[in-house]
Amino acid sequence: MSWSAEPVASIERGSVLIQTQKPVWNRDTIVRIVLVAVLYFFTARIGQSFAMPPGNITPVWLPSGLMVALVLIWGYRISPGIFLGAFAGNIWAYFDASSATLIGKALVSASLNGIGDVLATAGAVYLFKRKVVSDNPLESLSAFKAFGIYCVISGSVVSAILGVTGLASMGFLPWSQYGMALLTWATGDAVGVLLIAPLVLSFYFRKDRVVPKQRRFELGLHVTLLALLSLAAVFHQHWPPPLPSPVFVMIPLLLWAVLRLGFRVTFVSVACMAAATVYVTSNNLGPFKEAEQLFALIELQLFLTLLVTSVALVGMVSAERDQLIDELKDLCEHDPLTGTCSRRYGMQLIVAEQERQARYGTPYSLIMFDIDHFKRINDSYGHATGDRVIQQITRLIDSALRDVDHLVRWGGEEFLVLLPNTTQQGALQFAERCRELVAANTFEHQERLSISLGVIDSSAANTVQDLLARVDRAMYHSKNHGRNAATAFTTLPSELMTP
Ligand code: GH3
Ligand code: MG
Ligand code: MG
Repeated sequence: MSWSAEPVASIERGSVLIQTQKPVWNRDTIVRIVLVAVLYFFTARIGQSFAMPPGNITPVWLPSGLMVALVLIWGYRISPGIFLGAFAGNIWAYFDASSATLIGKALVSASLNGIGDVLATAGAVYLFKRKVVSDNPLESLSAFKAFGIYCVISGSVVSAILGVTGLASMGFLPWSQYGMALLTWATGDAVGVLLIAPLVLSFYFRKDRVVPKQRRFELGLHVTLLALLSLAAVFHQHWPPPLPSPVFVMIPLLLWAVLRLGFRVTFVSVACMAAATVYVTSNNLGPFKEAEQLFALIELQLFLTLLVTSVALVGMVSAERDQLIDELKDLCEHDPLTGTCSRRYGMQLIVAEQERQARYGTPYSLIMFDIDHFKRINDSYGHATGDRVIQQITRLIDSALRDVDHLVRWGGEEFLVLLPNTTQQGALQFAERCRELVAANTFEHQERLSISLGVIDSSAANTVQDLLARVDRAMYHSKNHGRNAATAFTTLPSELMTP
């Protein structure tokens, strides 16, 4: 077998750089394998401190989620570490050196456990990646669905079948408890994957980390309430009886987190809530207290599964909705060919400027321009060249604009420039600069081009409609007088100035 960590190609995928790697052994790989084995073993030990009867099975199997996350981050080459971690954990729990047969049985059971866990993590991630382009289960609803099917459900079932069969066939678990052990093992693994993998990955994928600055106060309030409710859950017996358990009061907090504070805060909150709930349930207290502790365990596992799934789904639906709104807004506000403001958005900007002018008296100006003899370019060089020339001209003008100015595609090869806080004099100077820039430029088809411009300021009319009609007249005056010129509305002959 040969393994490697030498990058042979890298491709940009989403927000992270994924490196495709050729398998050969090297020091990094070995260090990671050892680290993975140690992490598996210690998280397993932590989980086992909450183990409930029967069969030393824990309500939330932490290593399963951690391993899925690490395979997604580091790749399949850490699989030997997963095998070793699961193997060592199983040996630790069942090893008996009193006879060679018992040692052999412990080795067989531990090996089955190791193989099951490699299939449940690396195998499940392989199937997940075949289905989804992204490495992040929280990237989209379809990614989360594939994560649910392969990593949460299939992986946990495979791990449980191999693990429990290993224990039962080697005599470490009575066959009469096989069904129940299978169920609790699988659900424990599934909850572990659902809780831990997104938590770890939300620290890895940058996009999931962000809490906007203006929501820092909200974050503080959320953390405080969560901490108080977690303490209340742990000391549940002092919670006044008519109130619902603090565990249930935390549900709106999780929805708050997923809608406003991002997946990172959400999964940290979910982990706090799960830890508090597991702690009280393992002490046979809290909302899942049952006469039969096995039922309490299953109830808790199902509750956590449903809760995490619901919270993650709400988060993803909301993220997809936000993304759609952003895309729609962008489509409405920008022209697809040039990236300048669309006519509709430009109109909104002008109306807003007119309102500002009416309220504060700050003047603004408009420049309207149209490319001269543009039909010739289309006719001689084709529509595609025409498109690129339009793009070139908008880039030229855009580079000359201030941050506060806006370039609007008014239609075809006709544009408007909105210049806030600018008088006609200033706008005319700018229009001249634009005219010179275009006239001096060499375009793709190696020809000179020119534009004709009209200039007006907000004092020349009372309404936006009149202003637009008048600046159009100024532009056509330039067209009719030799083109490649800029005309200010106030310099038009008097018959053109009156409505
Ligand atoms: P004038 O100097 O009078 O403006 O002459 P012109 O040839 O530029 O005439 P006009 O402005 O009336 O016509 C513009 C032409 O631009 C008409 C249309 O076929 C073409 N056009 C409009 N939008 C686009 C576009 O997005 N891409 C391309 N390639 N051509 C366009
Ligand atoms: Mg034209
Ligand atoms: Mg035109």
